[in-house]
Amino acid sequence: MDFPTKVDIVVVGGGPAGSTAAAVAAKAGANVLIVDRKNHVGVPVQCGEAIGKSKSELEQLEIPKNSIVNTISGFRVYSPSNIPVTWYRDETQGYIVDRRVFDKELFAKAVELGANTWLGMSVTDIIWENGFPKGVLGRFRGEKIEIRANIIIGADGVNSVIARETGLRSYIRRKDLDTSVGYDMVNVELDEPRWMDFFTGLKVAPRGYVWVFPQGETRANIGIGVGVGFGEKTVYQYLNDFMEKHPIGTKICKNAKPIEFRVGAIPVGGPPKKTVTNGVILVGDAAGQVHPLTGGGISYSMTAATVAGEIAQKCLVKGDVSEEALADYEKGWREKLEEKFALGLRMRKLLEVMTDEQLDKLAQHLSGDNIIELVSGKLKKIWKYIKFRLKEPEIAKLLKQAIKGEGKFIEEEEEEEEQET
Ligand SMILES: Cc1cc2nc3c(=O)[nH]c(=O)nc-3n(C[C@H](O)[C@H](O)[C@H](O)COP(=O)(O)OP(=O)(O)OC[C@H]3O[C@@H](n4cnc5c(N)ncnc54)[C@H](O)[C@@H]3O)c2cc1C
Repeated sequence: MDFPTKVDIVVVGGGPAGSTAAAVAAKAGANVLIVDRKNHVGVPVQCGEAIGKSKSELEQLEIPKNSIVNTISGFRVYSPSNIPVTWYRDETQGYIVDRRVFDKELFAKAVELGANTWLGMSVTDIIWENGFPKGVLGRFRGEKIEIRANIIIGADGVNSVIARETGLRSYIRRKDLDTSVGYDMVNVELDEPRWMDFFTGLKVAPRGYVWVFPQGETRANIGIGVGVGFGEKTVYQYLNDFMEKHPIGTKICKNAKPIEFRVGAIPVGGPPKKTVTNGVILVGDAAGQVHPLTGGGISYSMTAATVAGEIAQKCLVKGDVSEEALADYEKGWREKLEEKFALGLRMRKLLEVMTDEQLDKLAQHLSGDNIIELVSGKLKKIWKYIKFRLKEPEIAKLLKQAIKGEGKFIEEEEEEEEQET
């Protein structure tokens, strides 16, 4: 089989970000090639597989119907002493998907819309000519391959070669990563098989949480994300302790048995300062488009990738793929997501400094709506809440500083930037 080696756009990575960008650009008429080092996109699964959104947000996402294994209508966030903050609605507020099917269907859609693919091709470098990227170099079955392209879309995930080679993100600091493990489990005891459960606390999951995402009445994706360098045990031990010692975890997992083990890293430090350069666009995990507090990235990567595909094709038509022209992508995705990520980052930092006692107190004052406001970056509403409802001045001060990026929250950011340079 012949593969194209000269295209308008080469998309590196066939995950949700790459396939979405490729589908949009191909539909608009671009000659697109998606390369992925895997032979089967979406496998192995490295995900909690949850997409929690409002009804209108869900409608804007092209979620392959046959990948949905369960509909979600609520959540509970448990404090360290297991005080639940509960939220639910009658209508669907999210999905648990099967990423094997989800990723493959998005990939298939891109191909149906005209994209070509090259599976089993691992990209190793960028082709540079006079300081301008002209395509990518890769390896396919031991052979060196050169693919020429006017635009490279780097959708190659958390360890992005394209981000590193362009210098858009040379490295990720350890503390900006969550390490994550999880199981697909059967015989799980779920009292609310339409609700997602989150368990927090320094003893449960330092700077992170344990999740129980129901895949059906008795099946669940149960996993954990922990900040790298946080805590004294391995992430695997934290998850096992949840299943074997936690008062609620032991009930849920009493008869549960794993049928699949997952492991992965999540970039939770927010996006780099720039996600475009001459001839190159970064998208998805490669661009740090992950919510820093929740670690969720599926929907954000698809939202940003839609903008990426549109702008890439527009720039090709104009015949200008310079950084200035591609900056419309930067502007477009930041308008949609940046505020959310910025607040999420400060909330993540708040989790780093709060004690279990403070988290317990916070849980007594928070409503489910407040949690949604915090995650979705609706600052005005949170502000109202701090002023009028919180009765804990010490915690209120911390929350206020984190929301506004003041005090220790801003100082820390500046220090870290100095270290980086
Ligand atoms: C354990 C875990 C749990 C998670 N749970 C959730 C969740 O419940 N909900 C949620 O919204 N998000 C979750 N996330 C985050 C989510 O999985 C990512 O944000 C999402 O997959 C990002 O999509 P992407 O296309 O950018 O990257 P990926 O899905 O990582 O896809 C990148 C693709 O690039 C390919 N690739 C990489 N390097 C190369 C190379 N050099 N050459 C060629 N191909 C390459 C890979 O093979 C892969 O197919 C979780 C992540 C982890 C690790």
